[in-house]
Amino acid sequence: MEKRDMIYEGKAKKVYTTDDENLVIVSYKDDATAFNGLKKGTIAGKGAINNQMSNFLMQMLEKNGVPTHFVEQLNERDTVVKRVRIVPLEVIIRNISAGSFSKRYGVEEGIVFDQPTIEFSYKNDELGDPLINDYHALALKLATKEEIETIKKYAFRVDELLKAYFKGLNIDLVDFKLEFGRLPDGTIVLADEISPDTCRFWDSQTHEKLDKDRFRRDLGGVEEAYQEVMRRLGIEK
Ligand code: UDP
Repeated sequence: MEKRDMIYEGKAKKVYTTDDENLVIVSYKDDATAFNGLKKGTIAGKGAINNQMSNFLMQMLEKNGVPTHFVEQLNERDTVVKRVRIVPLEVIIRNISAGSFSKRYGVEEGIVFDQPTIEFSYKNDELGDPLINDYHALALKLATKEEIETIKKYAFRVDELLKAYFKGLNIDLVDFKLEFGRLPDGTIVLADEISPDTCRFWDSQTHEKLDKDRFRRDLGGVEEAYQEVMRRLGIEK
């Protein structure tokens, strides 16, 4: 399968059409942004890592009953995925307090929750991805009631599966962001990516950060952290 026209260029990925109207090729870049694009940089090798890690995790989820957009990895950076219409919601699940949760509610990072939380942001860069609830999502016609129920069910299932998987690698899954899409027949599938760009990973023993917070907070060792998660997942580079 080959790339035809570039139809979208985002912060971390480019998307190309193919000769199959139902499939697109996603190409992962090394570019990194944070704080709604205010901070920019590159993380050497990130594209290759995120592509392979996301594909590995999506296949694991698919085997466990979560439908995803994944079709086939072409090479280090490029993957064929099902063409979807993205539901304009960022779905965030949290197991441990961190980031904007800590800031918003004035609590320290690292509080382990008794049960995961879910929140939605309206995917809209101009507005800075504002936090919304189910009722706002319905009012804005971002998704139907049934779609929101399906998305929540899948998001919590993804959390259960990923949390358990990473625990076995001595990594605590602190929080993460998911995006879902609609297939032409309306079926909801997990889309976008699952990587250290979109998840917070802490070493279970040392609590060392193994994710994009190293870039956001200028902690150094960014490339090494991404590679370390790959190494623990046992993915050959
Ligand atoms: N996240 C993301 N994209 C966004 C916002 C958040 O992938 O545009 C991820 C982030 O990496 C973290 C989780 O979602 O794993 C929760 O992020 P949070 O709301 O704490 O925001 P942040 O502190 O990253 O601004």
